[in-house]
Amino acid sequence: MKNQKQSKEYFKDSSRLFDNNVLLSKGEKEGNRYYQFLTEGTNVCARCSALDGKKIKISDAKAGENLPPLHPNCRCEVVVLEASEGAYADPNNAYGLSESQKISNAEYIHRVLKEQGWSTQAIAALLGNIEKESGFNPAAYEVPGNKNRGYGLIQWTPATPFLSHFGINEVEADEMALNSPSILIDMQLEFLTLTSTTSCYDTRQWYPTMRFFSPYEMSFNSFITSTNCPRELASVFHSHYERSADSEDGIRGRADSAEKWFNYFNGR
Ligand SMILES: [Zn+2]
Repeated sequence: MKNQKQSKEYFKDSSRLFDNNVLLSKGEKEGNRYYQFLTEGTNVCARCSALDGKKIKISDAKAGENLPPLHPNCRCEVVVLEASEGAYADPNNAYGLSESQKISNAEYIHRVLKEQGWSTQAIAALLGNIEKESGFNPAAYEVPGNKNRGYGLIQWTPATPFLSHFGINEVEADEMALNSPSILIDMQLEFLTLTSTTSCYDTRQWYPTMRFFSPYEMSFNSFITSTNCPRELASVFHSHYERSADSEDGIRGRADSAEKWFNYFNGR
């Protein structure tokens, strides 16, 4: 038999579960498909820590498994992620986005990075590379369905570190592409920053270099706030992060595209 304290906790936990269910069903009615699991405070148990930050489909929510509380006194919370309009993805066709969908994704990326303090020049430089790599399709596979090859906005090769960082497989990534493309873009921008700023050599991808026709060397933090010529910055991004097999002409194509996006966003 439960003592008084236990029954009070039990009541609190079941009302939190009820609140979370209400939150998710309201979010789903508003057209959203995912929620995020967030741990709260310190001394979080291993089970909850493993779920921290995970983006979970609302239709996959299971009380006590991935929907808190997971245990008595669990302080974890959920937030519904907005399936914001104006972002697009096509997992079945690498360069499948229409011109207006590409512009829409560029605007979405510009909005997100501007808020994070990126300069318009640096955003344009990134967009020039994204246009070349994936045609702005966050679900683009270099080889359809093959996660050992390039994947996503900037064609991470292989796709596995990106997928495993977020604890999803390629089927789940494709579902996300179809249901909530903006969340897939958010995750890829987050992964870009992570792999550019981490000090772990096995995940780090930003390496200043003069190779690959780079005009100069730069740290990631200087890059994102730089107001240098967007054409040069496009080449910096390519050499420091992308390192494709592009010829000098190919890199010039990225620079042309960066210049176009700079003119499009400058002053907005
Ligand atoms: Zn918890």
